[in-house]
Amino acid sequence: MKFVELARVYEKLEATSSYNSMRDILAKFLKAAGKDELRVVCYLTLGRIAPHFADVNLGMAEKMVLRGIADAGNVQDSSVLADYKRIGDLGEAAERYASAKPQLSVKEVFDGLHSIAEIGGSGSQEKKVKLLSSLLQRSSSIEARYLVRIALGDLRLGAGDKTVLDALAIAYTGSKEARSVLEHAFMICPDIGKIAELLVKKGLKAVENVNIEVGIPIQMMLCQRVESLDELKKRTGFPVTVEQKYDGERIQAHRLGRKVVLYSRRLENITSQFPDIVSAVEKLPVKTAVIEGEVVAVDAKGNVLPFQVVMQRRRKYDVAEYVRRVPVSLRVFDVLFLNGRDLIRTEYEKRYALLRKIIKKGKSVELAESTLCNDVKCAEDFFQDIVQEGGEGIVIKSLSGEYQAGVRGWNWIKWKPEYVAGLRDTFDLVVIGAFYGRGRRAGKYGALLCAAYDDKADQFVSFCKLGTGFTDELLDELPEKLRKVDHKPARVEAKGILPDVWIQPELVVEVGGAEITKSPTHALGFALRFPRFLRFREKKPEQATSVREIKKML
Ligand code: AMP
Repeated sequence: MKFVELARVYEKLEATSSYNSMRDILAKFLKAAGKDELRVVCYLTLGRIAPHFADVNLGMAEKMVLRGIADAGNVQDSSVLADYKRIGDLGEAAERYASAKPQLSVKEVFDGLHSIAEIGGSGSQEKKVKLLSSLLQRSSSIEARYLVRIALGDLRLGAGDKTVLDALAIAYTGSKEARSVLEHAFMICPDIGKIAELLVKKGLKAVENVNIEVGIPIQMMLCQRVESLDELKKRTGFPVTVEQKYDGERIQAHRLGRKVVLYSRRLENITSQFPDIVSAVEKLPVKTAVIEGEVVAVDAKGNVLPFQVVMQRRRKYDVAEYVRRVPVSLRVFDVLFLNGRDLIRTEYEKRYALLRKIIKKGKSVELAESTLCNDVKCAEDFFQDIVQEGGEGIVIKSLSGEYQAGVRGWNWIKWKPEYVAGLRDTFDLVVIGAFYGRGRRAGKYGALLCAAYDDKADQFVSFCKLGTGFTDELLDELPEKLRKVDHKPARVEAKGILPDVWIQPELVVEVGGAEITKSPTHALGFALRFPRFLRFREKKPEQATSVREIKKML
């Protein structure tokens, strides 16, 4: 397939705002893609060259891409820069310098981009620029536009994972009904390219039966919440396992022979941050396994320290020093795969029995504190003990429950002291924009525009302007944490209050608030009153509080 065909579809998608039309355009195109190219086409349509978790980055900053365009067009950087400033989009600026006849194949582009990603070491910037330039030299204007946007990691077609899964369902099964099968498979194997390939080569049944592959992260199960512990009678029934809810960082550890990989809740590879956990997992008496737990910081006696302490371990540099300074322990609570056996559909009681056999109390790893309860009173007593010792709360787990990958299911229920007081849970919102500060905050961002996730439309919908609860240090950190873009990002809905700067919807913040009121100033139609920043969350934007959940709270 020619890359120009893909570029033309991108152009159509870009001009479409309706979700259904977008899905249908894509479905038609995916059907036309050859069996062997479908995987690549799926990644590229999502603006990537590998699945999210694969940690493959082109490593090209805006300046480098600009130099690539200038090199290909044989002009000065300043000339491209002037166009960029005038047009406001580097992709469109690149169009002006590209005049080749369409000749690139999808595969050539994909391989070329992979080669750019693989270049490292000294002189790598120059080599990356040259490679991009050589692709651009062989591009027509429309191809150059999208090539540059992919290189920048900003394709902005408005098609997210969900749109592609929906389109695949229509393209290869003829109906939307298969969507739930594909979505479920994507929870167990969050690699769209792989799922697409399985669907086209082996059919829907194979997708339905997709199994865990050690090394590929599974989207993590989340907890539901109840109004009172009495509700357990109808939700889980008794007996249940009641566990301490640790306030740290969720880790999914994959062990394949001697190799260990750690994933965060956002499915990022965080192996290098925790060499101490890696070596503990290396020693477990297993051949292959996927286990999950919460990593917490501990003092010399093994007591759990607050969340802020373990956060110091989230770093790229000085890792060895921080391993010494901030000892951690993984409190394990689940096993999803063991010695060749996929346990995702096995009930919790059996999974837990297996877990007990492989996890013995050690310095860096041990089982989460838990007890078996036959009634509400027992859960209540355990909760009181945990909270008195400074714990965050409890998680109640159905003994017969499967692991519901990527789902906030009823097999896990969380209970925290705030709920007892009848207070609402906090909101996990996605940052979609920022406002420049005034007065003491001049020169920095002073407030953020935050959105909830609409899982039906696969969009981020504005819900509140957040300006309270930030310390000066946090405000200093914000520009580094937020990826600024010069246009409203794809999949973002905002009206009324619009930000000074748009931000890629990537960062999730936990926000407290007083109440939800009707409001025309946000796209959701409701606003959170008196929002207050609590902390950054390690969640994917699609795991933020959903519009549906907010509407249920009204
Ligand atoms: P929340 O983020 O409030 O929805 O709570 C769910 C999170 O609690 C999970 O993603 C885990 O990171 C964390 N957690 C801590 N302890 C446990 C536990 N024993 N079982 C399950 N999740 C736990």
